[in-house]
Amino acid sequence: MTSILIIEDEPELVKILRAYLEESGFKVSSAYRGDTGLSNWENQRPDLVILDLHLPGMDGLDVAREIRRKTDTPIIMLTARVEEADRLVGLELGADDYIVKPFSPREVVARVRAVLRRSGQVSTSKTFLRAADLEVDLDSHMVTRMGQVIDLTPTEFNLLVALASQPGRAFTRLQLLDAIQDNAFEGYQRTIDAHIKNLRAKIELDPKKPRYIETVFGIGYRFIKG
Ligand code: CA
Repeated sequence: MTSILIIEDEPELVKILRAYLEESGFKVSSAYRGDTGLSNWENQRPDLVILDLHLPGMDGLDVAREIRRKTDTPIIMLTARVEEADRLVGLELGADDYIVKPFSPREVVARVRAVLRRSGQVSTSKTFLRAADLEVDLDSHMVTRMGQVIDLTPTEFNLLVALASQPGRAFTRLQLLDAIQDNAFEGYQRTIDAHIKNLRAKIELDPKKPRYIETVFGIGYRFIKG
């Protein structure tokens, strides 16, 4: 599991970021002060650090310098002023990216993913998903079952990827809607049921007795584990 350390002194912000990042499958820890944040970093060696610029205890800039002195752990800086942003990234400090407050948590998740991808912290070879006897090629958007290609719509494909990339996890319909990032007019949770039905009809040997995608009563759906 990819771990992220948030060092930010606004508890409300930490709470929201944590919720979104955990929702996206990251392991999250946090600190409200620069100095404790740095020692947390020493102990935990997270895969990525989200670091506020202005912090009690120790300034975000100093925290970033300390981290940089020892490792190239990706750092995303949070700043309230766009004018500050330029000097945060690049040679002077070596932060990998910055985000100007206020921001949408969703944007932060996207940036985290992008920075991890760029830095190679997340195995970029994970373009191939093997789940049960299904094979999903994320690059070519091709799904095969025992060598047979299964044609899926983009929505069905995204739905399958979301479910199959975290086997055993139950997703709410709302989370799945988020995963397929579809148009607003499709924004009804029941739409998911229709897509799942179509998806099952295509990937399941017997759609009435689904082996891959289980219904989780009262929650949503889950890709089978193991
Ligand atoms: Ca602050």
